[in-house]
Amino acid sequence: MKIKRAFILLLAVLCLFAAAVWADSGIRVSVDGRYISFTDAEPIIYDGRTMVPVRAVFDALGAEVDFNSKGVIIGKKGNNTVEMCLGNKYIISNGIPSAMDTVPIVINSRALVPARYIAESFGYSVSWDSQSKTVSINSRGYAPAPAPQTNGKDVRLHFIDVGQGDCTLIEDNGHYMLIDAGETEYGSTVVSYIKNMGISCLDYVIASHPHSDHIGGLDDVINTFDVKNVIITSEEAVTASFENLLDALEKSNADIIEAMPGKSYTLGLSSFKILAPGKLDDDSNNNSIAIRLSYKQSSALLCADAEKEEELYIARSGENIASDLLKVNHHGSPGSSCEEFLYKVQPKYAVISVGKDNSYGHPSMNVLSALNAVGAKIYRTDLNGNVVASLTGSSVSVSTEKNDTDKRTEKMLQNAVLNTNSKKVHLPECESVSKMSAKNKKIFSGSVEELIEMGYSACGYCQPF
Ligand SMILES: [Zn+2]
Ligand SMILES: [Zn+2]
Repeated sequence: MKIKRAFILLLAVLCLFAAAVWADSGIRVSVDGRYISFTDAEPIIYDGRTMVPVRAVFDALGAEVDFNSKGVIIGKKGNNTVEMCLGNKYIISNGIPSAMDTVPIVINSRALVPARYIAESFGYSVSWDSQSKTVSINSRGYAPAPAPQTNGKDVRLHFIDVGQGDCTLIEDNGHYMLIDAGETEYGSTVVSYIKNMGISCLDYVIASHPHSDHIGGLDDVINTFDVKNVIITSEEAVTASFENLLDALEKSNADIIEAMPGKSYTLGLSSFKILAPGKLDDDSNNNSIAIRLSYKQSSALLCADAEKEEELYIARSGENIASDLLKVNHHGSPGSSCEEFLYKVQPKYAVISVGKDNSYGHPSMNVLSALNAVGAKIYRTDLNGNVVASLTGSSVSVSTEKNDTDKRTEKMLQNAVLNTNSKKVHLPECESVSKMSAKNKKIFSGSVEELIEMGYSACGYCQPF
């Protein structure tokens, strides 16, 4: 009898322990600023160390993972291999063992591993913030985005990295506006970015046009935050993301405003004016809501996916469109950023919201050249991660999360022929070289990057890059 009671007591204590371990530990793990979402098991503190579900951490690091029958966990990423064994304190990184201060364990039939050692083996740096209970795993060169604005009067534009899509949060002394929220799968990224800044209410949300890379994540945003006004066009679409947006709008208390060119609105200390669309086009991209935000003497122009047709409408509208900062149209597509538009905007800074190695080849190298030719300093979410630009009222300053390079521009050219007049680059054998006047001809050997920085673009016929 006594034994049985003791057993039941022991069981109860064990259950309590398990419950304590599994109750939402509140531990968060981010990789280059993106939080891992844990579906079947959460990270825990075990023996004073943060232990993370094995598959979630390898997935988030972009590595493959396998278990063999002897309980060995083998992770592979590129040329790096990491091996760990349940209950064993050695980690083997590319064949070289080193001791850890903890061991991989199994709890509730889930394998948990010390994320720090795995991430470090793959070349990441790892830090722990005990206040927010966050493990930050960052690749080299990554610096976390700046803390939210506390005081001061700058107006900040956060170009949130949503891969191939658009998402801009504007922060203006306690007032906030969000333009687009990337594809559906980025909804949670955008929501946590906004939440992390301590924001609960958005004064304005703009749904620029019905394409999913812009409105996909907006339903999550509208369902989460207190949204006062939503600015939208009358264009409709028969897509899941558009239906989800309509459902979210129906449930919200937001006022719906139809975008009308010429209308101005106040945010905090800044104001913005709607420049386009005029009448709706067949091409949804040319129906993008375009706005110019101004704060004292500094300004920014944001036109979502506007292509040449809408750019010309904006450029010829008679409005002042000169702007310190341009969010480059349509992810840097070659059908946008036409000469007349860029010449009128004269941006000093250009931000391109674009996915790494996207299948469209965005941003177009000719667009990069054109931006350089007007003297704009270029930032890109595929290379720079989240980009934050501050309008100070007289100037602009920009900070970035990281600083990667574009592999495409590393290509070297030998004896390419430059036309110093048309600013075109040709292969030596290109037909147009023979027709070029000698005074415009210059022979160049060097990288594509140098040419782009000088504002040169590739001949469309011989395609040197
Ligand atoms: Zn787009
Ligand atoms: Zn679009």
